[in-house]
Amino acid sequence: MKFCSQCGNPVEQRVPEGDNRHRHVCPNCDTIHYINPKIVAGTLPIFEDKILLCRRAIEPRLGYWTLPAGFMEMHETTSQAAIRETWEEAEAKVNLDGLYTMIDVPHIGQVHIFYRATVLNGAFGVGPESLETRLFTEQEIPWEDIAFPTVKHTLRHYLEDRLTETFPVHVKDITFERIKS
Ligand SMILES: [Zn+2]
Repeated sequence: MKFCSQCGNPVEQRVPEGDNRHRHVCPNCDTIHYINPKIVAGTLPIFEDKILLCRRAIEPRLGYWTLPAGFMEMHETTSQAAIRETWEEAEAKVNLDGLYTMIDVPHIGQVHIFYRATVLNGAFGVGPESLETRLFTEQEIPWEDIAFPTVKHTLRHYLEDRLTETFPVHVKDITFERIKS
């Protein structure tokens, strides 16, 4: 951030009084511009024994396969965001079957939340952010071409939990691996 969104003045980085972190602060109107993590909400869309994946038409990870998910909009809930993203990316209407994974990714300032979902009537299409969409059996999942670690974890948990048909919520952190010197 270079300029204040309130008044257009250049911002400076400093620790505001009573705070303990550097923030973007406007010296003109005193607005403190907080930057906080973002929530990505999505679904694990199931039809019969298959999982619906989308091949990304946009960066990052263009051409790789993902579960439908995206940034929450203001004034919507995580479940609304998950349903909306599933429609936008895979043109699938879904019923949510419960919260499934919540994965913190602190080094990029994101929290990824996936709901288990049932694809209504097995109907889906290809949204503008996808190159193609497809239902995959377990054997067909393109593990080498999965876009994001959070998606891979969610898929792995599901395939394991499916064996016992118990689907507890999985909470996990994916932390940045520091290069050892
Ligand atoms: Zn300002």
